[in-house]
Amino acid sequence: MTKIAMTTPLVEMDGDEMTRIIWQLIKERLICPHVDLKTEYYDLGLAHRDETDDAVTVESAEATKRLGVAVKCATITPNAARVDEYHLKEMWKSPNGTIRAMLDGTVFRAPILVKGIQPVVRNWEAPITIARHAYGDIYKNVEIQVPGAGKVELVYTGADGTEIRELVHEYDGPGVAQGVHNLDTSISSFARSCFKYALDTKQDLWFSAKDTISKKYDHRFKDIFAEIFEAEFADAFAEAGIEYFYTLIDDAVARVMKARGGFIWACKNYDGDVMSDMISSAFGSLAMMTSVLVSPSGVYEYEAAHGTVQRHYYKHLAGEETSTNSVATIFAWSGALRKRGELDNLPDLQAFADRLEKATIATIEAGEMTGDLARITTLENPKVLSTEAFIDAIASRL
Ligand code: NAP
Ligand code: MG
Repeated sequence: MTKIAMTTPLVEMDGDEMTRIIWQLIKERLICPHVDLKTEYYDLGLAHRDETDDAVTVESAEATKRLGVAVKCATITPNAARVDEYHLKEMWKSPNGTIRAMLDGTVFRAPILVKGIQPVVRNWEAPITIARHAYGDIYKNVEIQVPGAGKVELVYTGADGTEIRELVHEYDGPGVAQGVHNLDTSISSFARSCFKYALDTKQDLWFSAKDTISKKYDHRFKDIFAEIFEAEFADAFAEAGIEYFYTLIDDAVARVMKARGGFIWACKNYDGDVMSDMISSAFGSLAMMTSVLVSPSGVYEYEAAHGTVQRHYYKHLAGEETSTNSVATIFAWSGALRKRGELDNLPDLQAFADRLEKATIATIEAGEMTGDLARITTLENPKVLSTEAFIDAIASRL
């Protein structure tokens, strides 16, 4: 059998723990037998990030800018426990944070729907895609632990020396304060990515924030979205028969619970972090949530929304059998291969991505699944497969 050819390599960002094991299996059993896989490999596993003083993360993001499409494995964001566990030189920053900041993109997260896994919210019939702004706010904050009485001020000093000064608070005793920021350029590219993605996928776009309380900060987001929509997208939306609207985040939450799905919900950075976990768990499982970072320059980075599944990895290390769900990681690969096929005009590669997804969904719908899904499926007598056996079941269908 001749393998499907690729022209431009994918940027491959390897990662940590259980997902690193899944990563290898997906390549070996699902992709390489069919595709003459070309990748530029970056090892973002924690040990190698530490060896390179995290330079490998920056290099992988640079490569993504150059080549256009990346696929990323979940990675450990170190905390104090990880510093000890891996004897780290320092508590390296979140690789996702570094990559997002460099690509200045928007993260779109959508659940993968299969028959037999019913959303907790009964009226959800179609996926709800969360568009998460990937720059700034509390992810780039500056914080002070206020030691005692005194005042905290916010000071802007212009290039010409002009000053704007606002009192944050007069403290009588200890407390906390933080400064957060965002940029018109980043908010604008967030808005444009959302409008474009809505048009691409022909779905309504909702945007929510809290401009009634945050009258300058959140209001700026609302205004930028409105201006860009009117100037650049209103006609195309009308033509496509889709809608854009802004609403307060608490109103959005209430509406989402009553909606049938099939729309994009654009959220600020923190809201998107929180809401995407809510949406994914309510749709079934964190392991069934895909994620793609789309930069305004048209660069794509695909990944699973979940982490490295640490608890399963320790079981694996102890020699116990695991049943870790690889669906979101498989869809990260299929998404990246399909996009590469689109950009390089390789219809065979795109068709392979479709087949890989179909085989994955068909496997679950036939009742063969991992433990996380077996616990919540409405299918009778599901067959619980191990991490490896599930991938093999997909491979045989493929
Ligand atoms: P996690 O890896 O998302 O797993 C949390 C729990 O969710 C698991 O223990 C498991 O529940 C369930 N789960 C998640 N993915 C699953 C899958 N594919 N199949 C089956 N069950 C799954 O989060 P974590 O264990 O809290 O974090 C581990 C590491 O991941 C951390 O070091 C964190 O920094 C990192 N992280 C990375 C990313 C990223 O790279 N994008 C995102 C989030 C977290 P049960 O144990 O009950 O089976
Ligand atoms: Mg999160």
